[in-house]
Amino acid sequence: MRWQLGRRSQNVEDRRGMGRTGGFPLPRGIPTSRGVRRGGLGGIGLIVFVLIALFLGVDPSMLLQGDSVSNVPYAEAPATAPPADDEMAQFVATVLGYTEDTWGSLFKEGGATYREPKLVLFSGQVNSACGFAQAAMGPFYCPADERVYIDLTFFQELHDRFGAPGDFAQAYVIAHEVGHHVQNLLGTTRDVQELRRQVSESDSNMLSVMLELQADCYAGLWAHHTDRAEQILEPGDTDEGLNAAAAIGDDRLQRRSQGYVVPDSFTHGSSEQRVRWFQEGLVSGDFQACDTFNAAQL
Ligand SMILES: [Zn+2]
Repeated sequence: MRWQLGRRSQNVEDRRGMGRTGGFPLPRGIPTSRGVRRGGLGGIGLIVFVLIALFLGVDPSMLLQGDSVSNVPYAEAPATAPPADDEMAQFVATVLGYTEDTWGSLFKEGGATYREPKLVLFSGQVNSACGFAQAAMGPFYCPADERVYIDLTFFQELHDRFGAPGDFAQAYVIAHEVGHHVQNLLGTTRDVQELRRQVSESDSNMLSVMLELQADCYAGLWAHHTDRAEQILEPGDTDEGLNAAAAIGDDRLQRRSQGYVVPDSFTHGSSEQRVRWFQEGLVSGDFQACDTFNAAQL
């Protein structure tokens, strides 16, 4: 992927190295709207949360978006821009910049204004408006504070554990999370959350899959338009993205963890579906083509 000459986004917040204190957790014992104690989410609750997130895949944003978490009071850590000699952070800032430019003009074409999200780099664990998160849960987007959270060791994980190397695979992951931000701006996230509360568990999972596949389609859409404007794609890049989409499909993740596949419990979509929808956006470049909610086939 050609990115070195691209503009760096100013919206990256470097909160790495802050460890346990990242995000200034509130003192122990402050009751929240969920009835859990803020400082006390450690222990069993956190372990269960992490296990559930791991089981579901690498993107716990749906879990983190759950009901009343957004009302939880939280204090923000002071953030700095990443150092100029940190190549990985500069790469992330450039990809984020590309998403700002591309979505900015797509929104403008549609007569709307794109509000840019922040992207938080963290190491180990982080406090977000959606709750306390561990790196093991993978990158996620928090609608309540409009931030994408990413621990860069995930990219190593993507390479080693998921067998998806390459810078464009990493760009796809960032673009997918930004896709969730787009869904948030358009009200899709809220509508789907509302609906999920009213339906059966398997229908709720289906809605989650539709939301995730749409974010994959938006990632493809982003790549399509960014390549048109900035010629970022090099030979092999598309395959890297498709390979990454396949690697983190629910069926493949489940097969790894439990040896069999339970389609009803899918929340992100199968490998085949993720590849198909990423490709749909990538090839068509058409926003309407990403309407997974009204698609004849997922
Ligand atoms: Zn997602």
